Amino acid sequence: MSEIFKTIARYQYTTEAQIIKGRLEAEGIEVFLKDHLTIDTDPLVSNAIGGVKLQVLAKDAMKAQHILSTINQYSLDDDGNQIECPNCGSGKVDLFSTITDFKSFFAFLIGFVSGTLPFHTRYKYKCETCKTEFTKEDIKPKKPISSQ
Ligand SMILES: [Zn+2]
Repeated sequence: MSEIFKTIARYQYTTEAQIIKGRLEAEGIEVFLKDHLTIDTDPLVSNAIGGVKLQVLAKDAMKAQHILSTINQYSLDDDGNQIECPNCGSGKVDLFSTITDFKSFFAFLIGFVSGTLPFHTRYKYKCETCKTEFTKEDIKPKKPISSQ
């Protein structure tokens, strides 16, 4: 059996693995998760057993790894769609917290207490291509209404 299935990625959490699974299946690749039931039962065991294994058929492994390499390190929204830069349309977008040190945490706290800073600005996206920073609210809806 070991030559039929190939583990191409490991994830600490099942939700993460599920998102990637959805992406690969959208490309027509059959995906199998291993050990996710164990981890869902007891998340603390995840590290001990090496996380949720994402497996594909050996014949799909190269294609799957290629897809992973293009999507894995960049941000996905809650539906597993890749987040694109509102400025240049690049998919190379990183999610980062704006609270990176004590100073920014303090600034956040002041803003939060005084009500000038909305809660969601704790997190921002940054485009690697054009270096634009944006929040979730700046992202245009993915499905434009066609006006033909
Ligand atoms: Zn950009």
